[in-house]
Amino acid sequence: MGTEASTERKQVSIRGAHLRLGESPALIGSRCPGCGEHFYPPRHVCLNCYQEGLDEVALSTRGDLRSFTIARMGLPGTAMTPPYVIAQVWLPEGVAVATVLTDVDPEAVSIGMPLELVVEKLSTDSEGNDVMTFKFRPVREG
Ligand SMILES: [Zn+2]
Repeated sequence: MGTEASTERKQVSIRGAHLRLGESPALIGSRCPGCGEHFYPPRHVCLNCYQEGLDEVALSTRGDLRSFTIARMGLPGTAMTPPYVIAQVWLPEGVAVATVLTDVDPEAVSIGMPLELVVEKLSTDSEGNDVMTFKFRPVREG
């Protein structure tokens, strides 16, 4: 009847991901108002100048591959099918994000390749909400 989709399932972030969901998903980090350093995961105290009370900010959704490992064996309790790429992505804010890559041939991965954030449903929780996680994938140019 109404326009409110009250019965629609909610999306919730997987624990520990610091993920902003919705129209423009992004990782949430913190920015130090004193020195401008960014951190991910978010911190309460700046590691650079020890200021407290950092601002919560949405981080860039694009970055470059900083380092990676190709996982060739599955891990118990994970949804990933080997081989897959465990990566550190370097964001323009100067933070490294630990993630896995998706939509990529592990043999074609190279340091410095441009990557973008993708948000995917991981599972459904006990309340019927979609539990969302994030990965990165190569930027598709053009
Ligand atoms: Zn600082």
